[in-house]
Amino acid sequence: MLAHVLNTLALDHQVDCEMRNYPHPMARTHMGNSLPDSVVETMMRVTRENYGVAQRFWRAKAKLLGMERLANTDLYAPITPSDAQYSWPESVGHVLAAYEAFSPELSRLARDFVEKGWIDAEVRVGKDDGAFCSGTWPGHHPYILLNYTGQIRDVFTLAHELGHGVHYRRSSNQPLFFYDAPLVLAETASVFGEMLLNRRLLSQETDPVRRRSLLCSRIEDALSTAYRQNVLTEFELSVHTGRKGGQLSRDEICQKWWDANAALYGEAVDMNPAYRWGWSYIPHFIHTRFYCYAYTFGQLLVLGLYQRWVEEGDAFVPRFLELLAKGGSEDPAEACAAVGITLDEDFWRAGNRAIESLVEEFEAAVG
Ligand SMILES: [Zn+2]
Repeated sequence: MLAHVLNTLALDHQVDCEMRNYPHPMARTHMGNSLPDSVVETMMRVTRENYGVAQRFWRAKAKLLGMERLANTDLYAPITPSDAQYSWPESVGHVLAAYEAFSPELSRLARDFVEKGWIDAEVRVGKDDGAFCSGTWPGHHPYILLNYTGQIRDVFTLAHELGHGVHYRRSSNQPLFFYDAPLVLAETASVFGEMLLNRRLLSQETDPVRRRSLLCSRIEDALSTAYRQNVLTEFELSVHTGRKGGQLSRDEICQKWWDANAALYGEAVDMNPAYRWGWSYIPHFIHTRFYCYAYTFGQLLVLGLYQRWVEEGDAFVPRFLELLAKGGSEDPAEACAAVGITLDEDFWRAGNRAIESLVEEFEAAVG
């Protein structure tokens, strides 16, 4: 049934594209994101060229776990028991200090959430699960919902949602329709906040086993957001392109999925044969066509911005704050250019290099 649905959606989209003279299946999504085709194409190509970095990480992880090769069902296996607990004040302390080290202004904006009671953190019966930040509207402050249980991932979630919170507060001078950042910039401050927290925790952690574990989770986040989502987009594009030649059989769809994934996993990972059906559990292919590359874009953008900060130091900070203050008032490439970032091949390479340097550190920690 899903193969039939996917075929029908692809044909429907193909008819739309022909009637409206869209030059290729992704054109409409690029227009929606206000991105030139060339920016996305370069980003996807550079990312694909760096799949070897992911393979190096999986080889190192296999070695650490005493396995010859990881199976793709074991990719996210934890490398240490996650028993560390963080009290709420400890967690807040870490996150605010992490923001402070980057920008006292961002830390001040984040501190208000804690001190003025704009965060609903406790777990309660009947409360919604997950975590999010609601921007409300420019004239009012945002709110954050969490379900805080004191695990390390909850500390990262706090850093993430506070990133959304300070992003909204920076863009609160924009009118309502420009208040929200465009899709591909929406996760800029949130993921940047996670990077800052990771930097702080790594700088304080002296226990080599826990350091390694922090590195591992940072890398796995980056790989699943940047590389895996690139694979998903490549698969989706190959379905739309392949559908032009007629109905695709289940086996043909499975084969396209397998090939797209094999490019990422290479010889480093054993793919479970049942994984050929992996495409069938990704809702984006059905509900939000070509959405997935926004994850790759967001992750690499943040890594590239972070790398700029590492290289340029404090001079970079006001430019980052200015980028946040733009909200959705400018197209992504324009907004980035205004703060000195050109979304060209070099920029995407820098983002990939940031992942590579984390992987190098992990390899050294594994020995
Ligand atoms: Zn987010």
